[in-house]
Amino acid sequence: MKLFKFFIPLFFAIKSYAQVDRIEPPNWWIGMQMSKVQIMMYGDKLAALDPKIDSEGVKLIAVDRVENENYIFLTLEISKNAIPQNIDIYFYQGKKVKITHEYQLLPRKENASNIEGFTPKDVMYLITPDRFANGDTKNDEISSMKEKLGDGHYDRHGGDLQGIINHLDYIHDLGFTAIWLNPALENNMEKASYHGYSTTDYYKIDPRFGSNELYRSLSKIAQENGVGIIMDLILNHIGSEHWWMYDLPSLDWINHDGKFVQTNHTHHTVYDPHTPQSEKDLFTSGWFVETMPDLNQANPFLAKYLIQLSIWWIEYADLSGFRIDTYPYVDRAFLTAWSKTIAKEYPNFNFFGEAWLYNPAMVSYWQKGSRPFDDYISFIPSMKDFPLQKALYDGLTSDDRWNTGIGDIYRVLANDFQYGDPYNLVIFGDNHDMQRIFSQLNEDMDLYKMAMSFILTTRGIPQIYYGTEIAMKSTGDHGELRKDFPGGWESDKVDAFSGKGLKREERDAQKFLRTLLNWRKTSSAIGKGKLLHYPVKDGLYVYFRSYDNDLVMVIMNNNQSSKNIDLKRFSEILLKKERAINIINNRAYKLSKPMRVPGKTAMILDIE
Ligand code: CA
Repeated sequence: MKLFKFFIPLFFAIKSYAQVDRIEPPNWWIGMQMSKVQIMMYGDKLAALDPKIDSEGVKLIAVDRVENENYIFLTLEISKNAIPQNIDIYFYQGKKVKITHEYQLLPRKENASNIEGFTPKDVMYLITPDRFANGDTKNDEISSMKEKLGDGHYDRHGGDLQGIINHLDYIHDLGFTAIWLNPALENNMEKASYHGYSTTDYYKIDPRFGSNELYRSLSKIAQENGVGIIMDLILNHIGSEHWWMYDLPSLDWINHDGKFVQTNHTHHTVYDPHTPQSEKDLFTSGWFVETMPDLNQANPFLAKYLIQLSIWWIEYADLSGFRIDTYPYVDRAFLTAWSKTIAKEYPNFNFFGEAWLYNPAMVSYWQKGSRPFDDYISFIPSMKDFPLQKALYDGLTSDDRWNTGIGDIYRVLANDFQYGDPYNLVIFGDNHDMQRIFSQLNEDMDLYKMAMSFILTTRGIPQIYYGTEIAMKSTGDHGELRKDFPGGWESDKVDAFSGKGLKREERDAQKFLRTLLNWRKTSSAIGKGKLLHYPVKDGLYVYFRSYDNDLVMVIMNNNQSSKNIDLKRFSEILLKKERAINIINNRAYKLSKPMRVPGKTAMILDIE
């Protein structure tokens, strides 16, 4: 063995001259809770060299080599009193320095660890960046990116971050306080790269959307408009064109040794006591699709890499949240460590996962504070509320009987006892993966307004998909429901930003949403208050939100015809209150008299 070690460096010295092609994370910060940082360095036969550093307050405490000699992992320990600095990393071959690479340890922004995440006071506007607005036609096609522009549903259309920056005033005026942006990291895939769910570089914004610097500017300018940015991140898989796939650090970096084995896509295996272990394993270790290799987060180097990149983006771009794709598909021990580290680094940050399940027990499993049935511990504060989305749809599209109709909403919310914090769930009527709410509701404007009224007043943090504010329709496939927002392209005849060319119905929807959203901002009952609701009676669902003296009452009449409601049933909440104001049209009502609510209407009332 000794002889072997002696000859290797000599051999390499003749054969090649190593260099560093990639270094990730590209920098770190001083003063982090996470004082140890693992730096992944990639370059031709880098592992054959011997790295050293010489720095005040920073120590190189570990050098790890993996199967592939083109990778080397350095762990730096940054002491509490280290100052911001550029560290020289020296790569020795014997006594000679072959490469010197500079690494930046930056100062943190003031109060960086107190970064505030989204809360129930916020409403998210979900944007698919390729489809919202093209603010820079120069980046529509980039020579180094495989896919160019096209006009099919699954092609790239040229929308970008500049387009969002250009229209932040529109988003702000509508009354949104957060933007959940579908993935914007590089997706250098051959086809259908517009959706962004096939990451090919975790540390680089796709150049067709802009740059890292522009993403950071978007976050900064948005915050100046009272709007936070929520990053969509995929920890479960990468795109098959990710640079790792051309030279894997180790065979176990990707599940099933880098070869395609499809997941069973059956979430239920996680909880089901009757499913054999092989199917449980297949759910998490199988690939989502062939073009999305499944990451093995049980590999400790990869686990650290993913935790660090999450922290890197929060710190770099001053994020207001994460949305984590395909959450239950990810290794659970990793999710515990990942969520715990983020929550420790940023105690006021908020982030939510996607578990597309209609059973509240199964969704609650993932949320922090829920009572687990096994040894899984979670620190993720929020999840997407799919069960409520389905109940809303079912409730508004079925007849009212003892076990169908609008009572579905009441019945699903009765499951809230299972959640660690139901008020912190992200609620919605549609998103980038399902039919537009207006189309779900058979293009019925009354039902659409009922749905919007409900989402913006019940418990939870609402999310509205871009275009839903003008009641956009969808007819079929995914690419089509993510269609271009009118006015985002120079050649557009209709401009929803200014209202020019919108149909009456679309303008009406937009005005309705603007009124509702801007009122919601001012309501502490909605932003901070408790929910109290009554069992559905005669097709009427009545609920209250209350905080201190602020009280809001919502009456949803799911009947075709109008109903007179005797308010005595609600006297324990209304107490001696006298007057109610309809927040949409400012009409006043006396609470001493029965209230008439038109059919297929949700009345939102400020109680005085
Ligand atoms: Ca563009």
